[in-house]
Amino acid sequence: MRIAVEGCAHGELEIIYDTIQEIEKVDRKKIDLLICCGDFQSTRNLCDLKCMAVPDKYKDMCTFYKYYSGEKIAPLLTIFIGGNHEASNYLQELPYGGWVAPNIYYLGYANVITVGGIRIAGISGIYKSHDWMQGHHEKPPYTKSTIRSVYHIRNLEIFRLKQISGNIDIFLSHDWPSGVTKYGDENKLLKGKPYFKTDIENNTLGSPANMELLKHHYPSYWFSAHLHCKFAALIPEKDGPRVTKFLALDKCLPKRKFLQIVELKHNQNLPLTLNYDLEWLTVLYLTNHLLSVKTGIHYMPGQGGNGRWIYTPTTEEKENVLKRFNYDLQVPMNFAQTVKPYDPELMDQNETPKLIINNQTTQFCNTLGIDDPSVLLQIILNSKEDKVNETIMESTLESTLESSDISVTFEEDSTCEDNTKHTINIIDENFSNVLPIERIESDLNSSNHIARAEPNCKKFKRRNCSIYSNTL
Ligand SMILES: [Zn+2]
Repeated sequence: MRIAVEGCAHGELEIIYDTIQEIEKVDRKKIDLLICCGDFQSTRNLCDLKCMAVPDKYKDMCTFYKYYSGEKIAPLLTIFIGGNHEASNYLQELPYGGWVAPNIYYLGYANVITVGGIRIAGISGIYKSHDWMQGHHEKPPYTKSTIRSVYHIRNLEIFRLKQISGNIDIFLSHDWPSGVTKYGDENKLLKGKPYFKTDIENNTLGSPANMELLKHHYPSYWFSAHLHCKFAALIPEKDGPRVTKFLALDKCLPKRKFLQIVELKHNQNLPLTLNYDLEWLTVLYLTNHLLSVKTGIHYMPGQGGNGRWIYTPTTEEKENVLKRFNYDLQVPMNFAQTVKPYDPELMDQNETPKLIINNQTTQFCNTLGIDDPSVLLQIILNSKEDKVNETIMESTLESTLESSDISVTFEEDSTCEDNTKHTINIIDENFSNVLPIERIESDLNSSNHIARAEPNCKKFKRRNCSIYSNTL
């Protein structure tokens, strides 16, 4: 199996595919798979461009939208991880991976997949210590802060990748594993990139999480991008036989070393299609409870804790997941557009980015029985909108109270109340002091309700409950 590995793609898909076809002509051998190590820039339209963390002068539509719209078709199976220059709103639709265009598959926050029996793992984003323990709280439209933090890797994904057992053939990350330069020709690297010196000396060049993963798995190959130069290294296992061949590639520009062809022996009995990895699916299933879409520090289970802390699945656990997938692990070809593609003829395409639930993720989550982070975010969003409605309702209520029409309001309310004995008699004229708005809000915050689906009477009921428990 011949694999083309690309560094940063930076939206230049047409050039990359043309280059691959040139190589095929020269070598007279087909290339079966293209792997891109991030900065893919899968911008479908101008709205997606707004979600990319780059200065305005670099916000170029490039060529991905042609593959999204169907104007062009990717000539070979293409898989990629996310980097730090991405249409983050689009990638967020596919947290567990999915087709961004026909024949082009994004691996999600993290993933393990197989093609012809070759096992490929990947982690999207770059490492920043301050966001490392946060939940996946970001949602479009992004703020100045979340447009960047959205692509910072989280401990959940590293924890999940560490649960994998067995050999991994290829591992993909956008930023380099930290300390990797000392396993290659550091001097030569510094000749081309002298400004790496301080970072190398301080061991701040690259991601410590990636090096942890590398030394956990020692995959046969590790490919990265991000630093826009070619660099190779050999990382031997300290007390074992395994060796990882590390290769970083440049970005796609003329005369740059952005493509590498790798030839790997695959299982000849298997088709070169994209398949889920059963062990990875099972890890996702077993660790679903660790997913958070909130800000704040989230710890992963560890040795000192009470519950399970190793989620490497048993044969039985894997068998249960295999059943869920009806014994068929081939990734379904279920690409569908979720927004309109860019049209160069149309001037007015200035929409605001919004959170979208992608049907591919819904289908995947339903089959596996796990949560879609976007659905969880949507629930929080709805309850916040409801909170705003609630405040508006409250001010209406207060003005009603001011006009001394107390009994009418609360008799109506009491029709929704199971326990009607606490009503008007406990409310005095200073009602607004008894029931400050903050208290209502915190009460609503603490409940796990999906606000939109709830009739108003229930909200009153909950609010009353809060009045009574706080005043009696
Ligand atoms: Zn790049």
